[in-house]
Amino acid sequence: MAKIDLKSMTIPEIEAFLAELGEPKFRAKQIFVWMNKGVESFDEMTNLSRALRGKLNELCTLTVPKVERKQVSKLDGTIKYLWMLEDGNCVETVLMRYKHGNTVCVSSEIGCAMGCAFCASTIGGIVRRLTAAEILSQVIFTQKDSGLPISNIVLMGIGEPLDNFDNVMRFLELVNHPDGMNIGMRHISLSTCGLVDKIDKLAELQLQLTLSVSLHAPDDATRSQIMPVNRALGVERLFDCCRRYFETTGRRISYEYAMIDGVNDSDAQADLLARHLKGTPGHVNLIPLNDVRESKLKPSKRVAAFQKRLESYGITVTVRRRLGGDIDASCGQLRRKTLHLEDA
Ligand code: SAH
Repeated sequence: MAKIDLKSMTIPEIEAFLAELGEPKFRAKQIFVWMNKGVESFDEMTNLSRALRGKLNELCTLTVPKVERKQVSKLDGTIKYLWMLEDGNCVETVLMRYKHGNTVCVSSEIGCAMGCAFCASTIGGIVRRLTAAEILSQVIFTQKDSGLPISNIVLMGIGEPLDNFDNVMRFLELVNHPDGMNIGMRHISLSTCGLVDKIDKLAELQLQLTLSVSLHAPDDATRSQIMPVNRALGVERLFDCCRRYFETTGRRISYEYAMIDGVNDSDAQADLLARHLKGTPGHVNLIPLNDVRESKLKPSKRVAAFQKRLESYGITVTVRRRLGGDIDASCGQLRRKTLHLEDA
């Protein structure tokens, strides 16, 4: 019989489970607090009776990822973890140290089905989606292992978070809980390649998180070439959806744009992007392309010019600072290297 995934459960769900065992309600919060502190076995939950600990051991799993590899940047203190999960799969988490607080970049899936041409995470396709507990545990154990308090989360690691919608929403509820990690929604960013129906679904939940849309090109010819997800949807529908998101939630969208040499970095593309964004508040984050060994795409040399051109239309533009340049900090790269998935 499959074991019960206790760490993916909310306090009321744990209460209901404990009721079946004939245990009092208040134990649920005690268990929730222990799990979020990063205990590695039920036996560490010392305020529970020995009998209850025994039952939990027998019936439940605790989801404790183990450090498979850890790299610390000498340049800026960025830490990259490769975690080994209970089924032998690995996921990456990156801890970045910003002035405004320590930020973790978590993975939502093992591999990715989206097929973006510039991204290392998708090269071997998708293996499976992560459970809420596996996403939450990346935050809990990164904080525990590093000893650094985490104040911000970005869902920008391996995988497409909106392709794992239910588990990611559950993760958000758990990580936001005052008895758990207690991370405010305004300190969380979710990045998507632009799954329109899921963005509409997310809008209905009215979460105060920041939505980042990986745009990377303002025209269908270019976007469909580098992002297969665009082939069925097209940029017009994506921009319409982004406008609806802003109207429903009042939250500005952040558009990510990885600058690729000769592909998406022309003045004409900056002009078209500006035209699309007209009238809806948004923010553009230009990302210097990380070189992925398996890809022929190269970093653009026109980042500053592209930024200037967009700014001339009154658009707010930032350029992402590169952290962890001396470690395999771009997502998907450490997993591929460790599992020997890279081409020789
Ligand atoms: N699937 C989600 C989140 C994961 S990727 C998404 O598509 O948004 C996080 C960000 O890194 C995305 O904007 C993605 O397009 C970008 N990215 C992936 N590979 C990159 C690379 N080699 N250089 C720069 N940015 C990259």
